[in-house]
Amino acid sequence: MREPVTAYVALGANLGDPRAAVLAAMDRLGTLPHTRVTARSSLWRTAPVGTTGPDFVNAVVALRTTLPAPGLLAALQRLELEAGRERPWPNAPRTLDLDLLLYGEARIASPRLVVPHPRMHERAFVLAPLAEIAPALVPPGALAAMTSQVIARIP
Ligand code: ATP
Ligand code: CA
Ligand code: CA
Repeated sequence: MREPVTAYVALGANLGDPRAAVLAAMDRLGTLPHTRVTARSSLWRTAPVGTTGPDFVNAVVALRTTLPAPGLLAALQRLELEAGRERPWPNAPRTLDLDLLLYGEARIASPRLVVPHPRMHERAFVLAPLAEIAPALVPPGALAAMTSQVIARIP
């Protein structure tokens, strides 16, 4: 039996009903085999970064899982497909995006999976929700350096 690992997953959506999609995905993550959701951030409304389109709803959850990292990524991609995810072009608007931010202390660089997620530290829409549930993982001052990224907690 594997030891459970704490993993962090970023959720994002900006098509259809993004708030409902993110909330539903949080629930679905808790139904994955050998996995429980141990913390959920607030929902955050954010302007698209590096692309155009409707605003995003973003959040981060902590998981406790014995799924291996590639198995967890495969499960995340299945949930994206169930939510109707299509990839017509890079950064296209999406019904659901699930990114594996961290998998315990693991450092992974395979063609399909890079962990820690290589762009997480430049994204306020990742760091703000992550700071709510795991403040020690967000470097001091990191968010303050991103004031140009428009982001607001949804009350
Ligand atoms: P970004 O990765 O910059 O947030 P994106 O989420 O829009 O962009 P996708 O089209 O969702 O990109 O994913 C492209 C590929 O990234 C996936 O097919 C997946 O194999 C790969 N990938 C690599 N590392 C990760 C990770 N940590 N989490 C999720 N997908 C990853
Ligand atoms: Ca992403
Ligand atoms: Ca993704």
